[in-house]
Amino acid sequence: MSIAAAYAMHAPNGAFEKVTIERRALGPRDVLIDVAYAGICHSDIHTARNEWGGAKYPCVPGHEIAGIVAAVGSTVTRHKVGDRVGVGCMVDSCGVCGPCLADEEQYCTAGATMTYNTQVDPAIQPGGHTMGGYSTQVVATENFVLSIPEGIGLDAAAPLLCAGITLFSPLRHWQAGPGKQVAIIGMGGLGHIGVKIAAAMGAEVTVLSHSLSKQDDGKRFGAHHYYATSDKQTFRELRSRFDLIINTVSADLPIDDYLRLLDLDGTLVILGLPENPLSVKPFNLVGYRRSLSGSTIGGIAQTQEMLNFCAEHGIDAEIELISADEIDGAYDRVVASDVRYRFVIDTSTI
Ligand code: NAP
Ligand code: ZN
Repeated sequence: MSIAAAYAMHAPNGAFEKVTIERRALGPRDVLIDVAYAGICHSDIHTARNEWGGAKYPCVPGHEIAGIVAAVGSTVTRHKVGDRVGVGCMVDSCGVCGPCLADEEQYCTAGATMTYNTQVDPAIQPGGHTMGGYSTQVVATENFVLSIPEGIGLDAAAPLLCAGITLFSPLRHWQAGPGKQVAIIGMGGLGHIGVKIAAAMGAEVTVLSHSLSKQDDGKRFGAHHYYATSDKQTFRELRSRFDLIINTVSADLPIDDYLRLLDLDGTLVILGLPENPLSVKPFNLVGYRRSLSGSTIGGIAQTQEMLNFCAEHGIDAEIELISADEIDGAYDRVVASDVRYRFVIDTSTI
Protein backbone atom coordinates (compact mmCIF):
# COMPACT_ATOMS: atom_id res chain seq x y z
CA MET A 1 0.00 0.00 0.00
CA SER A 2 1.18 3.53 -0.69
CA ILE A 3 -0.04 6.93 0.37
CA ALA A 4 -0.82 9.56 -2.27
CA ALA A 5 -1.77 13.20 -1.95
CA ALA A 6 -4.94 14.17 -3.81
CA TYR A 7 -7.59 16.84 -4.24
CA ALA A 8 -11.10 15.76 -3.29
CA MET A 9 -14.59 17.16 -3.05
CA HIS A 10 -16.64 16.06 -0.02
CA ALA A 11 -20.11 17.26 -1.05
CA PRO A 12 -21.83 18.33 -4.30
CA ASN A 13 -21.66 22.03 -3.50
CA GLY A 14 -18.30 21.89 -1.73
CA ALA A 15 -14.84 23.01 -2.76
CA PHE A 16 -11.75 20.94 -3.46
CA GLU A 17 -9.54 20.18 -0.48
CA LYS A 18 -6.19 18.50 -0.20
CA VAL A 19 -6.41 14.98 1.25
CA THR A 20 -4.26 11.89 1.50
CA ILE A 21 -5.54 8.60 0.05
CA GLU A 22 -4.25 5.05 0.00
CA ARG A 23 -3.37 3.20 -3.18
CA ARG A 24 -3.37 -0.60 -3.13
CA ALA A 25 -0.17 -2.64 -2.90
CA LEU A 26 0.87 -3.75 -6.38
CA GLY A 27 -0.61 -7.03 -7.55
CA PRO A 28 1.28 -9.04 -10.18
CA ARG A 29 -0.45 -7.24 -13.12
CA ASP A 30 -0.47 -3.75 -11.60
CA VAL A 31 1.42 -0.63 -12.60
CA LEU A 32 2.10 2.23 -10.16
CA ILE A 33 2.23 5.60 -11.93
CA ASP A 34 3.62 8.89 -10.67
CA VAL A 35 0.99 11.25 -12.08
CA ALA A 36 2.48 14.33 -13.75
CA TYR A 37 -0.66 15.91 -15.28
CA ALA A 38 -4.41 15.43 -15.05
CA GLY A 39 -6.88 17.04 -17.45
CA ILE A 40 -10.19 18.49 -16.27
CA CYS A 41 -13.02 16.92 -18.28
CA HIS A 42 -16.55 18.30 -18.05
CA SER A 43 -17.56 14.82 -16.82
CA ASP A 44 -15.42 15.47 -13.72
CA ILE A 45 -17.65 18.47 -13.01
CA HIS A 46 -20.92 16.60 -13.67
CA THR A 47 -19.71 13.90 -11.24
CA ALA A 48 -18.11 15.99 -8.48
CA ARG A 49 -21.17 18.26 -8.38
CA ASN A 50 -23.44 15.18 -8.48
CA GLU A 51 -25.32 16.40 -11.56
CA TRP A 52 -25.85 12.80 -12.70
CA GLY A 53 -26.61 11.41 -9.22
CA GLY A 54 -24.62 8.59 -7.63
CA ALA A 55 -21.52 10.62 -6.76
CA LYS A 56 -19.34 8.98 -4.13
CA TYR A 57 -17.46 11.16 -1.67
CA PRO A 58 -14.71 11.90 -1.08
CA CYS A 59 -14.66 12.38 -4.83
CA VAL A 60 -11.22 12.47 -6.47
CA PRO A 61 -11.95 12.96 -10.19
CA GLY A 62 -9.50 12.78 -13.07
CA HIS A 63 -9.51 10.39 -16.03
CA GLU A 64 -7.08 12.19 -18.32
CA ILE A 65 -3.90 11.06 -16.61
CA ALA A 66 -0.33 11.28 -17.90
CA GLY A 67 2.74 10.32 -15.94
CA ILE A 68 5.74 8.06 -15.48
CA VAL A 69 5.80 4.42 -14.38
CA ALA A 70 7.19 4.24 -10.82
CA ALA A 71 6.92 0.47 -10.20
CA VAL A 72 5.46 -2.64 -11.82
CA GLY A 73 4.02 -5.92 -10.53
CA SER A 74 5.86 -9.22 -10.94
CA THR A 75 4.23 -10.34 -14.22
CA VAL A 76 3.91 -6.98 -16.00
CA THR A 77 5.38 -7.04 -19.50
CA ARG A 78 3.76 -4.07 -21.27
CA HIS A 79 5.40 -1.28 -19.27
CA LYS A 80 8.57 -0.72 -17.31
CA VAL A 81 9.79 1.78 -14.74
CA GLY A 82 10.43 5.17 -16.37
CA ASP A 83 7.98 4.72 -19.28
CA ARG A 84 5.74 7.65 -20.32
CA VAL A 85 2.21 6.41 -19.83
CA GLY A 86 -1.41 7.43 -19.55
CA VAL A 87 -4.64 6.23 -17.98
CA GLY A 88 -8.04 7.19 -19.33
CA CYS A 89 -11.58 6.59 -18.14
CA MET A 90 -11.27 2.88 -17.33
CA VAL A 91 -8.90 0.93 -15.09
CA ASP A 92 -10.32 -2.58 -15.55
CA SER A 93 -13.13 -4.65 -17.12
CA CYS A 94 -14.28 -8.29 -16.99
CA GLY A 95 -12.15 -9.28 -19.99
CA VAL A 96 -14.40 -12.19 -21.01
CA CYS A 97 -17.71 -10.74 -22.26
CA GLY A 98 -18.48 -10.08 -25.94
CA PRO A 99 -17.57 -6.38 -25.92
CA CYS A 100 -14.33 -7.00 -23.96
CA LEU A 101 -13.30 -9.76 -26.38
CA ALA A 102 -14.08 -7.35 -29.24
CA ASP A 103 -11.73 -4.70 -27.74
CA GLU A 104 -14.72 -2.54 -26.73
CA GLU A 105 -14.13 -2.66 -22.96
CA GLN A 106 -16.10 0.57 -22.52
CA TYR A 107 -19.23 -1.48 -23.26
CA CYS A 108 -18.26 -4.37 -20.88
CA THR A 109 -21.53 -6.13 -19.99
CA ALA A 110 -20.42 -6.41 -16.35
CA GLY A 111 -19.64 -2.69 -16.35
CA ALA A 112 -16.06 -1.50 -16.76
CA THR A 113 -14.31 -0.26 -13.63
CA MET A 114 -14.11 3.46 -14.22
CA THR A 115 -11.05 5.38 -13.06
CA TYR A 116 -13.09 7.19 -10.41
CA ASN A 117 -16.52 6.89 -8.78
CA THR A 118 -16.93 3.12 -9.34
CA GLN A 119 -17.76 1.04 -6.28
CA VAL A 120 -15.05 -1.60 -5.80
CA ASP A 121 -13.73 -3.98 -3.18
CA PRO A 122 -11.65 -2.00 -0.65
CA ALA A 123 -8.76 -4.32 -1.57
CA ILE A 124 -8.80 -2.63 -5.00
CA GLN A 125 -9.19 0.91 -3.71
CA PRO A 126 -9.14 1.50 0.04
CA GLY A 127 -12.33 3.44 0.82
CA GLY A 128 -14.45 1.27 -1.51
CA HIS A 129 -14.67 3.41 -4.63
CA THR A 130 -12.13 4.26 -7.30
CA MET A 131 -10.32 7.59 -7.14
CA GLY A 132 -8.83 9.34 -10.13
CA GLY A 133 -5.96 11.41 -11.33
CA TYR A 134 -6.19 14.61 -9.26
CA SER A 135 -3.59 12.75 -7.26
CA THR A 136 0.15 12.18 -7.09
CA GLN A 137 -0.10 8.45 -7.81
CA VAL A 138 -2.48 5.93 -9.35
CA VAL A 139 -2.45 2.14 -9.69
CA ALA A 140 -3.99 0.41 -12.72
CA THR A 141 -3.93 -3.02 -14.33
CA GLU A 142 -1.27 -3.10 -17.05
CA ASN A 143 -3.78 -3.67 -19.88
CA PHE A 144 -5.44 -0.33 -19.07
CA VAL A 145 -2.20 1.65 -19.09
CA LEU A 146 -1.44 3.34 -22.43
CA SER A 147 1.95 4.26 -23.88
CA ILE A 148 2.34 7.95 -24.69
CA PRO A 149 4.47 8.27 -27.82
CA GLU A 150 7.57 10.45 -27.83
CA GLY A 151 6.78 13.73 -29.56
CA ILE A 152 3.68 14.59 -27.53
CA GLY A 153 4.33 16.47 -24.28
CA LEU A 154 2.83 14.71 -21.27
CA ASP A 155 0.81 17.81 -20.35
CA ALA A 156 -0.81 18.19 -23.79
CA ALA A 157 -1.23 14.41 -24.09
CA ALA A 158 -3.28 14.05 -20.91
CA PRO A 159 -6.58 15.28 -22.46
CA LEU A 160 -6.23 12.79 -25.31
CA LEU A 161 -6.90 9.99 -22.80
CA CYS A 162 -10.59 10.98 -22.60
CA ALA A 163 -11.36 13.83 -25.00
CA GLY A 164 -9.13 12.39 -27.74
CA ILE A 165 -10.52 8.87 -27.74
CA THR A 166 -14.11 10.05 -27.24
CA LEU A 167 -13.89 11.84 -30.61
CA PHE A 168 -11.56 9.43 -32.41
CA SER A 169 -13.81 6.43 -31.82
CA PRO A 170 -17.03 7.75 -33.42
CA LEU A 171 -15.07 9.47 -36.20
CA ARG A 172 -13.59 6.06 -37.09
CA HIS A 173 -16.84 4.16 -36.53
CA TRP A 174 -18.82 6.45 -38.86
CA GLN A 175 -15.88 6.59 -41.29
CA ALA A 176 -14.96 10.25 -41.28
CA GLY A 177 -12.57 10.77 -44.17
CA PRO A 178 -12.22 12.23 -47.65
CA GLY A 179 -15.58 13.09 -49.21
CA LYS A 180 -17.40 13.15 -45.85
CA GLN A 181 -19.07 16.26 -44.48
CA VAL A 182 -18.52 16.26 -40.71
CA ALA A 183 -19.82 18.82 -38.22
CA ILE A 184 -18.70 19.17 -34.62
CA ILE A 185 -21.16 20.93 -32.28
CA GLY A 186 -19.37 22.73 -29.44
CA MET A 187 -15.68 23.60 -29.55
CA GLY A 188 -14.65 22.96 -25.96
CA GLY A 189 -12.31 20.26 -24.61
CA LEU A 190 -13.79 17.43 -26.65
CA GLY A 191 -14.78 19.50 -29.67
CA HIS A 192 -11.43 21.15 -30.35
CA ILE A 193 -9.63 17.80 -30.46
CA GLY A 194 -12.44 16.44 -32.64
CA VAL A 195 -11.83 19.21 -35.16
CA LYS A 196 -8.12 18.37 -35.32
CA ILE A 197 -8.67 14.62 -35.65
CA ALA A 198 -11.50 14.84 -38.21
CA ALA A 199 -9.42 17.21 -40.34
CA ALA A 200 -6.40 14.89 -40.10
CA MET A 201 -8.62 12.01 -41.25
CA GLY A 202 -9.38 14.03 -44.39
CA ALA A 203 -13.03 14.98 -43.77
CA GLU A 204 -14.48 18.39 -44.62
CA VAL A 205 -15.01 19.81 -41.14
CA THR A 206 -17.54 22.38 -39.95
CA VAL A 207 -17.70 23.77 -36.41
CA LEU A 208 -21.12 24.68 -35.03
CA SER A 209 -20.35 26.88 -32.04
CA HIS A 210 -22.72 29.13 -30.16
CA SER A 211 -20.80 32.20 -31.29
CA LEU A 212 -18.03 33.14 -33.72
CA SER A 213 -15.65 34.11 -30.91
CA LYS A 214 -13.40 31.06 -31.41
CA GLN A 215 -13.56 31.06 -35.22
CA ASP A 216 -9.86 31.86 -35.80
CA ASP A 217 -8.83 29.04 -33.47
CA GLY A 218 -11.23 26.64 -35.17
CA LYS A 219 -9.70 27.37 -38.57
CA ARG A 220 -6.23 26.96 -37.07
CA PHE A 221 -7.24 23.52 -35.74
CA GLY A 222 -8.22 22.50 -39.27
CA ALA A 223 -11.91 23.41 -39.62
CA HIS A 224 -12.95 24.35 -43.15
CA HIS A 225 -16.12 26.18 -42.06
CA TYR A 226 -17.31 27.79 -38.85
CA TYR A 227 -20.87 28.84 -38.02
CA ALA A 228 -22.62 30.42 -35.06
CA THR A 229 -25.68 28.51 -33.90
CA SER A 230 -27.04 31.68 -32.30
CA ASP A 231 -27.73 32.83 -35.91
CA LYS A 232 -30.97 31.33 -37.32
CA GLN A 233 -29.57 31.67 -40.85
CA THR A 234 -27.01 28.94 -40.00
CA PHE A 235 -29.79 26.35 -39.82
CA ARG A 236 -31.32 27.46 -43.14
CA GLU A 237 -28.00 27.52 -44.97
CA LEU A 238 -26.74 24.13 -43.71
CA ARG A 239 -29.97 22.16 -44.13
CA SER A 240 -29.22 18.51 -45.20
CA ARG A 241 -25.50 19.27 -45.46
CA PHE A 242 -23.80 16.66 -43.24
CA ASP A 243 -23.04 12.94 -43.28
CA LEU A 244 -22.02 13.00 -39.63
CA ILE A 245 -22.69 15.45 -36.83
CA ILE A 246 -21.02 14.97 -33.47
CA ASN A 247 -22.58 16.75 -30.51
CA THR A 248 -20.08 17.51 -27.73
CA VAL A 249 -22.25 20.07 -25.91
CA SER A 250 -22.59 19.65 -22.15
CA ALA A 251 -25.94 21.51 -22.05
CA ASP A 252 -29.44 20.86 -23.49
CA LEU A 253 -29.75 21.50 -27.25
CA PRO A 254 -32.73 21.61 -29.65
CA ILE A 255 -31.84 18.28 -31.29
CA ASP A 256 -34.47 18.63 -34.04
CA ASP A 257 -32.71 21.72 -35.40
CA TYR A 258 -29.52 19.68 -35.80
CA LEU A 259 -31.18 16.53 -37.20
CA ARG A 260 -32.44 18.64 -40.09
CA LEU A 261 -28.81 19.41 -40.98
CA LEU A 262 -28.19 15.73 -41.82
CA ASP A 263 -28.13 14.47 -45.40
CA LEU A 264 -29.68 11.16 -46.53
CA ASP A 265 -28.52 8.35 -44.19
CA GLY A 266 -26.65 10.85 -42.03
CA THR A 267 -26.03 10.25 -38.33
CA LEU A 268 -26.12 12.58 -35.35
CA VAL A 269 -23.94 11.17 -32.57
CA ILE A 270 -24.47 12.32 -29.01
CA LEU A 271 -21.38 12.58 -26.83
CA GLY A 272 -22.40 15.39 -24.45
CA LEU A 273 -24.20 14.28 -21.31
CA PRO A 274 -26.52 16.89 -19.82
CA GLU A 275 -28.88 15.34 -17.28
CA ASN A 276 -32.19 16.02 -19.08
CA PRO A 277 -33.89 13.72 -21.64
CA LEU A 278 -33.73 14.55 -25.35
CA SER A 279 -36.83 15.43 -27.31
CA VAL A 280 -37.01 14.43 -30.99
CA LYS A 281 -39.75 14.83 -33.60
CA PRO A 282 -40.04 11.50 -35.48
CA PHE A 283 -40.49 13.36 -38.79
CA ASN A 284 -36.88 14.52 -38.58
CA LEU A 285 -35.63 10.91 -38.45
CA VAL A 286 -38.07 9.42 -40.96
CA GLY A 287 -37.30 12.02 -43.58
CA TYR A 288 -33.92 11.26 -45.15
CA ARG A 289 -33.57 7.97 -43.16
CA ARG A 290 -31.53 9.78 -40.52
CA SER A 291 -30.03 8.13 -37.43
CA LEU A 292 -29.59 9.39 -33.92
CA SER A 293 -26.89 7.56 -31.98
CA GLY A 294 -24.41 7.90 -29.14
CA SER A 295 -20.92 6.79 -28.29
CA THR A 296 -18.82 6.51 -25.14
CA ILE A 297 -15.03 6.87 -25.05
CA GLY A 298 -13.37 3.96 -26.93
CA GLY A 299 -11.62 0.65 -26.27
CA ILE A 300 -8.06 0.35 -25.00
CA ALA A 301 -6.58 -0.87 -28.30
CA GLN A 302 -8.27 2.00 -30.13
CA THR A 303 -7.03 4.46 -27.48
CA GLN A 304 -3.47 3.37 -28.26
CA GLU A 305 -4.24 3.69 -32.00
CA MET A 306 -5.53 7.23 -31.33
CA LEU A 307 -2.38 8.22 -29.40
CA ASN A 308 -0.20 6.91 -32.22
CA PHE A 309 -2.38 8.70 -34.81
CA CYS A 310 -2.07 11.97 -32.87
CA ALA A 311 1.71 11.64 -32.60
CA GLU A 312 1.94 10.93 -36.33
CA HIS A 313 -0.23 13.94 -37.23
CA GLY A 314 1.22 16.37 -34.67
CA ILE A 315 -2.07 16.55 -32.75
CA ASP A 316 -2.29 17.37 -29.07
CA ALA A 317 -4.62 19.36 -26.83
CA GLU A 318 -4.54 23.13 -26.42
CA ILE A 319 -4.15 23.50 -22.68
CA GLU A 320 -4.15 25.97 -19.81
CA LEU A 321 -1.88 24.56 -17.11
CA ILE A 322 -3.08 25.22 -13.56
CA SER A 323 -1.99 24.38 -10.04
CA ALA A 324 -4.13 22.16 -7.82
CA ASP A 325 -5.43 25.06 -5.73
CA GLU A 326 -7.02 26.55 -8.88
CA ILE A 327 -9.40 23.64 -9.62
CA ASP A 328 -12.56 25.31 -8.23
CA GLY A 329 -12.10 28.41 -10.38
CA ALA A 330 -11.26 26.26 -13.40
CA TYR A 331 -14.55 24.35 -12.96
CA ASP A 332 -16.52 27.61 -13.03
CA ARG A 333 -14.69 28.71 -16.16
CA VAL A 334 -15.37 25.39 -17.94
CA VAL A 335 -19.09 25.69 -17.14
CA ALA A 336 -19.02 29.23 -18.55
CA SER A 337 -17.36 27.90 -21.78
CA ASP A 338 -14.35 30.04 -20.86
CA VAL A 339 -11.46 27.62 -21.36
CA ARG A 340 -8.97 27.49 -24.22
CA TYR A 341 -9.37 24.53 -24.53
CA ARG A 342 -8.61 22.18 -21.67
CA PHE A 343 -7.45 22.85 -18.13
CA VAL A 344 -4.67 20.52 -17.06
CA ILE A 345 -3.55 20.24 -13.44
CA ASP A 346 0.18 20.16 -12.78
CA THR A 347 0.04 17.47 -10.11
CA SER A 348 3.45 18.44 -8.71
CA THR A 349 1.51 21.32 -7.09
CA ILE A 350 -0.57 18.88 -5.03
P1 NAP B 1 -16.49 21.64 -22.38
O1 NAP B 1 -15.03 21.80 -22.50
O2 NAP B 1 -17.22 22.41 -21.36
O3 NAP B 1 -17.12 21.90 -23.84
C1 NAP B 1 -18.50 21.92 -24.07
C2 NAP B 1 -18.81 22.94 -25.16
O4 NAP B 1 -20.21 22.93 -25.35
C3 NAP B 1 -18.46 24.38 -24.81
O5 NAP B 1 -17.13 24.71 -25.09
C4 NAP B 1 -19.41 25.14 -25.69
O6 NAP B 1 -18.89 25.18 -27.03
C5 NAP B 1 -20.64 24.24 -25.73
N1 NAP B 1 -21.65 24.68 -24.76
C6 NAP B 1 -21.56 24.72 -23.42
N2 NAP B 1 -22.68 25.21 -22.86
C7 NAP B 1 -23.51 25.48 -23.89
C8 NAP B 1 -24.82 25.98 -23.97
N3 NAP B 1 -25.51 26.31 -22.86
N4 NAP B 1 -25.39 26.09 -25.19
C9 NAP B 1 -24.69 25.75 -26.30
N5 NAP B 1 -23.43 25.30 -26.28
C10 NAP B 1 -22.86 25.16 -25.09
O7 NAP B 1 -16.88 20.13 -22.05
P2 NAP B 1 -16.16 18.76 -22.55
O8 NAP B 1 -15.18 18.33 -21.51
O9 NAP B 1 -15.75 18.90 -23.95
O10 NAP B 1 -17.39 17.74 -22.40
C11 NAP B 1 -18.57 17.95 -23.16
C12 NAP B 1 -19.65 16.97 -22.75
O11 NAP B 1 -19.26 15.65 -23.16
C13 NAP B 1 -19.90 16.87 -21.25
O12 NAP B 1 -21.30 16.73 -21.04
C14 NAP B 1 -19.18 15.60 -20.84
O13 NAP B 1 -19.71 15.00 -19.68
C15 NAP B 1 -19.39 14.75 -22.05
N6 NAP B 1 -18.42 13.67 -22.24
C16 NAP B 1 -18.88 12.53 -22.82
C17 NAP B 1 -17.99 11.51 -23.09
C18 NAP B 1 -18.47 10.25 -23.75
O14 NAP B 1 -17.77 9.25 -23.68
N7 NAP B 1 -19.61 10.27 -24.41
C19 NAP B 1 -16.64 11.63 -22.73
C20 NAP B 1 -16.22 12.82 -22.17
C21 NAP B 1 -17.11 13.84 -21.93
P3 NAP B 1 -19.03 26.48 -27.95
O15 NAP B 1 -18.53 27.62 -27.10
O16 NAP B 1 -18.18 26.19 -29.10
O17 NAP B 1 -20.48 26.60 -28.31
ZN1 ZN C 1 -13.82 12.76 -19.76
